[in-house]
Amino acid sequence: MSDTLTLALSKGRIFKETLPLLAAAGIVPVDDPETSRKLILDTNLPDVKLIIVRASDVPTYVEYGGADIGVAGKDVLMEHPHAELYEPVDLKIARCKLMTAGKPDVDPSSGRLRVATKFVESTRRFYAEKGEQVEIIKLYGSMELAPLVGLADRIVDVVDTGNTLRANGLIPMEHIADISSRLVVNKASMKMKHKRMQSFIEHIRDAVREQN
Ligand code: ADP
Ligand code: MG
Repeated sequence: MSDTLTLALSKGRIFKETLPLLAAAGIVPVDDPETSRKLILDTNLPDVKLIIVRASDVPTYVEYGGADIGVAGKDVLMEHPHAELYEPVDLKIARCKLMTAGKPDVDPSSGRLRVATKFVESTRRFYAEKGEQVEIIKLYGSMELAPLVGLADRIVDVVDTGNTLRANGLIPMEHIADISSRLVVNKASMKMKHKRMQSFIEHIRDAVREQN
């Protein structure tokens, strides 16, 4: 088999911000994932395909070889601390912060703090390092709602401007981590398709350098 490359991307912000980096590596998608229903997109290069997956599924596709390469937020990668992946390039796109947030001027009820989040692993680790016992409530989205309806005292979420938080009467509180998207690479592909992968990674690295 020739050295075909399959890249896993998610729609939206990551796709849009990855496009210029791919272009610098000579890769231009033929279809637009925002309008196409296809999940496998052709590119101008016959041996490069893009697959469109949920942001939180990118590490799984790449770890198990469903894709050779992927683009995933550090927030997502931190939820997969044992994933067998290489993480060769910080793409410096989709930058934000992982933070705790809550209602201002509210003393949390006595007893354990209840924290709602989809980032269970990072949240567990953050409070464990502070030596604080908390109850973590797993959600899949709309975390801002949880403190408003008494489901939780705090949330842990990614924050950029903080406008979504403020629009819901919440304020950002503690900084947990700086987040940006990373190139992730399947370990077997790196061995089997070494030249092709190495060349792709170098092109992306150069493009990131030029953008920053
Ligand atoms: P999903 O809704 O499936 O989690 P998003 O497109 O909202 O996907 O987010 C994809 C990635 O973009 C996240 O994993 C995170 O790294 C980053 N991200 C999320 N929200 C923001 C934001 N407000 N500003 C910058 N980057 C963000
Ligand atoms: Mg989102």
